[in-house]
Amino acid sequence: MLIKTRFAPSPSGELHFGNIRTALYSWLYAKQNNGVFILRIEDTDTSRSCKKFSKNIIDTLKWLKLNWNEGPYFQSKKIHRYQEIINFMLSQDLAYKCYCGNDQLNYVKKIQSLRGIKTKYNGACRNLKKNLHTLQKYVVRFKNPLSGEVTFHDMIRGKIVVKNIELDDLIIQRENGIPTYNFCVVIDDMESEITHVIRGEDHINNTPRQINILNALGAKIPNYAHLSMILNSNKKNLSKRNNLLSVLKYKKLGYLPEAILNYIVRLGWSRGNKEIFSLKEMIDLFNFKSMTKSSSVFDGKKLLWINKYYINSLKKSKITNLIIKIFKKKNIDFTQGPRLSDVISVFSSRVSTILDLFHEVSFFYKDIFIEYDKKYLNNYFNLQSLKILRQSYKEFLGLSNWNMQEIFQIIKKLSIRFNVLIKDIIYPMRVALVGKSNSIGINKVMFFLGKEKSLSRLKNFLNIYNEFFL
Ligand code: GLU
Ligand code: ZN
Repeated sequence: MLIKTRFAPSPSGELHFGNIRTALYSWLYAKQNNGVFILRIEDTDTSRSCKKFSKNIIDTLKWLKLNWNEGPYFQSKKIHRYQEIINFMLSQDLAYKCYCGNDQLNYVKKIQSLRGIKTKYNGACRNLKKNLHTLQKYVVRFKNPLSGEVTFHDMIRGKIVVKNIELDDLIIQRENGIPTYNFCVVIDDMESEITHVIRGEDHINNTPRQINILNALGAKIPNYAHLSMILNSNKKNLSKRNNLLSVLKYKKLGYLPEAILNYIVRLGWSRGNKEIFSLKEMIDLFNFKSMTKSSSVFDGKKLLWINKYYINSLKKSKITNLIIKIFKKKNIDFTQGPRLSDVISVFSSRVSTILDLFHEVSFFYKDIFIEYDKKYLNNYFNLQSLKILRQSYKEFLGLSNWNMQEIFQIIKKLSIRFNVLIKDIIYPMRVALVGKSNSIGINKVMFFLGKEKSLSRLKNFLNIYNEFFL
């Protein structure tokens, strides 16, 4: 059997970590079984769908390389086909027109709740004679079986049984002629021959209704897996409207797609204590049995930790290329100065994101600073430290062998000569050279900057701030 899975988001917000987990599991399952992964965009609800979110769906999946074999299919382009099937169902008595107005429906519900019974459509129009009210507005309802039950085996939750008496006659076409969400899902899953429907737990109530429609149409019933929810740090469900956890935003923040996928695969699925999974391992090891039924909580710190891991374990050329992209975007010439890949090797173990890495390495290439942060000036500079800086300029000017040891020797000599701690020399010096007090060892900074740049930056600093402290 050809395994077919799909990811079927509605374009009503930016994809969040929960959505991507659904996509990833569907993708993994298809890959693991040499199957087909379909992308379908469920955009029939025009009041909630937006083009920019369809673009976000495609951009996010592309960034993560969750490539699809078929699609993207847009449900909005298929309305005619859905209506065709609805007409067929009307003709076969599998569906019927319901003319009940809102007042009538509300009245029925009110009576039901007064009686303490479950509120649902009472089937008033189920047996009306056809074409009785040709001019009146109507919706189309599915004729749900009145007795018996629907049973399905959820791949995560096991056997689920729902009595038909609990289910409404579902509206499958609205008054404006547009088919409803539940109906389009069923038709598309049927026509694409989806074998495994993997989706959020919030759809579990739709499943028996959808199975009944599939049965009515004589279609095969797919397997189902309903994933438990992911909660944000406030223990609330992730929602597309609250786009704090929009996955594509993490790209801008300097996260790697490898890290995002690795973090997501572990949200609700595990393999012993293993935390790091290559894509190949994910494909080989993924299964539904090891999935938790309880919700998972989004943990930004862990994601950062995994990102740091990937910054240090992916190929250096890959990381370098990402940094080059940022340089190009910001119009900074990285060709004049130390070799970018050398600098990156020194800094990558200090950072957790690509953006941080860029900030750490960019000072080697940017022009000298015109403005220095007042905070640093006040913390590290006084007459004494300026005097040391002036002296160090002279010493470095005379240094012919520009290497890390020699640079450090000069600093050591200065500390003895002025009777100060080494750190009292290197902190101000870093500020003058780099614009901030924390970075890698000062001798490394100066080595990578090179003699000429180091001296011109020191000089520039002294020129600007000599008088400031007098
Ligand atoms: N369009 C639905 C959603 O975004 C998913 C439907 C499904 O997977 O069956 O939640
Ligand atoms: Zn009715």
